[in-house]
Amino acid sequence: MNIIDGKAISAKAKEELRLEVAALSEKGVSVGLAVIIVGDDPASRVYVNNKKKACELLGIISEEYALPNDTTMEELLALIDELNNKKEINGILCQLPLPRHLDEKAVINAISPEKDVDAFHPVNVGKIMIGDFDFLPCTPAGVMRLIDETGVEVEGKNCVVIGRSNIVGKPMSMLLLHRNATVTICHSKTRNLAEITSKADILVAAVGRANFVTPDMVKEGAVVIDVGINRLESGKLCGDVDFENVKEKCSHITPVPGGAGPMTIAMLMANTVTAAKRQNNLL
Ligand code: NDP
Repeated sequence: MNIIDGKAISAKAKEELRLEVAALSEKGVSVGLAVIIVGDDPASRVYVNNKKKACELLGIISEEYALPNDTTMEELLALIDELNNKKEINGILCQLPLPRHLDEKAVINAISPEKDVDAFHPVNVGKIMIGDFDFLPCTPAGVMRLIDETGVEVEGKNCVVIGRSNIVGKPMSMLLLHRNATVTICHSKTRNLAEITSKADILVAAVGRANFVTPDMVKEGAVVIDVGINRLESGKLCGDVDFENVKEKCSHITPVPGGAGPMTIAMLMANTVTAAKRQNNLL
């Protein structure tokens, strides 16, 4: 059994990007990301700080817009409009979830597709669907990179994704399909889940339930990627996979933390660099 080191793979991806940002800078092209955070959700604050840190490491200019909890839709849309037109900003992301009174869908739709580095805008989602995409969906792209690092061929494999959310499960399934896997998507209404998952050569869990995937659900020698981030009562982070009991059964497995998580930010940085290149006619 091999543990896939997401931290090391993410560090490698970020180093490649740092060199790319430096090369762009020599051509007089800067890379800028605007991060909007509304309210004081502690988890969102941690994510935003991590994104800022990654920008600093790579030489990407980051602008943070921390708005109060009572920000109105009009104020938020006005800020997005300003950033859509700001030349120094190549990527815009609005940290989700937003406070309840704000309309997330309208916010996602307001971000210019060219600057939508999370790839949540319907234009970008559609492009992912047809396999002709500008921006990779960050978490699924990170997972693909982890799978590729194992050296295991995806084409022709039985891949099962547990979860069908718009940000993880669905785009994950599309990326696997574009790589010629045979893909099954499972969700809360799936019957005989263990029967389906135990046929997977590659199993991706994106459920949001601690220790949900148990050894009986896993095929001997499978690649298991755990996207889940769950906080136990003890405060400890854990994934969706019962790591200790499943690991002996797989050929490769990601830990939590240190697996899929660090990859998501690296892919966000990659999208920001892509956006800057495209906006400067370098792609
Ligand atoms: P959602 O809650 O949006 O989706 C969860 C999915 O799991 C749903 O499709 C749901 O089915 C399915 N599900 C729930 N219960 C079961 C069950 N008993 N059997 C089968 N399927 C079930 O979560 P996200 O996709 O946003 O996130 C999933 C996990 O990944 C979370 O832990 C999240 O924190 C983590 N995450 C990690 C990221 C990273 O960077 N590593 C990034 C984003 C998320 P249904 O649709 O029927 O309700």
